Amino acid sequence: MSSPPPPDEDNRQYRRQRARLVEKLQKRGIQDERVLAAIGAVPRHEFVDPALRDRAYADEALPIGRNQTISQPFTVAYQTALLSVEPDDRVLEVGTGSGYQAAVLCELGARVFSVERHESLLTRTRTRLEELGYDVRTRHGDGTQGWPAFAPYDGIVVTAAAPSPPDPLLRQLREPIESDDHAGGRLVIPVGGRNGQVMTRITRTGTGPHDYDREEFHSFRFVPLVSEEDEGAE
Ligand code: SAH
Repeated sequence: MSSPPPPDEDNRQYRRQRARLVEKLQKRGIQDERVLAAIGAVPRHEFVDPALRDRAYADEALPIGRNQTISQPFTVAYQTALLSVEPDDRVLEVGTGSGYQAAVLCELGARVFSVERHESLLTRTRTRLEELGYDVRTRHGDGTQGWPAFAPYDGIVVTAAAPSPPDPLLRQLREPIESDDHAGGRLVIPVGGRNGQVMTRITRTGTGPHDYDREEFHSFRFVPLVSEEDEGAE
């Protein structure tokens, strides 16, 4: 049996793997340089079970417990690019999971808020984010209700499949600022049933209840978004 590599060599190895992952994502069509740099900076191996670390930089989803997964790097990059995050943007994530997506948003300079319904997952993830120095405000609860206390948000990203965009999330998007014709907040959410969803971006275009613009992108497959109502029905 060989002994584990010393920490420096270990890090070098992960850095190399990460650089290769970034190249792969670029080839698969991710063009946003800032997003690629963020993926290149976050130590994904710290967000997976130690037994799965050798697969941390493969472009695949991996189990994180409680029947949930850390999203595939391509999916994280894709959703993050659609959000068009600017430094200091307030971004809400629904479905903290491992904390990886939240860390990528931090690397882009966002102020990150994240809600997770599995308390045991969240407890572990809070410690991990703190140890790695990522400043993410987290809450245990039903993210379909958003997080009104910190609204409005420049961006909201949902990392689980929803049958339709929840109203509270639409309402918590920032209204456009007229003076400098900035578009309003953006919601990036996979919409559809269990067998597949269409990545959807909804942008707030005004102050009225119908002032939203909807765009559809590629298909994906996420774990389901489970609201408190669904739980009650189970
Ligand atoms: N963004 C995560 C991916 C996690 S998978 C990462 O980077 O690792 C989706 C997560 O959404 C799961 O952890 C699941 O428990 C959570 N989830 C599902 N429904 C939810 C809800 N209504 N509110 C908050 N979190 C939810």
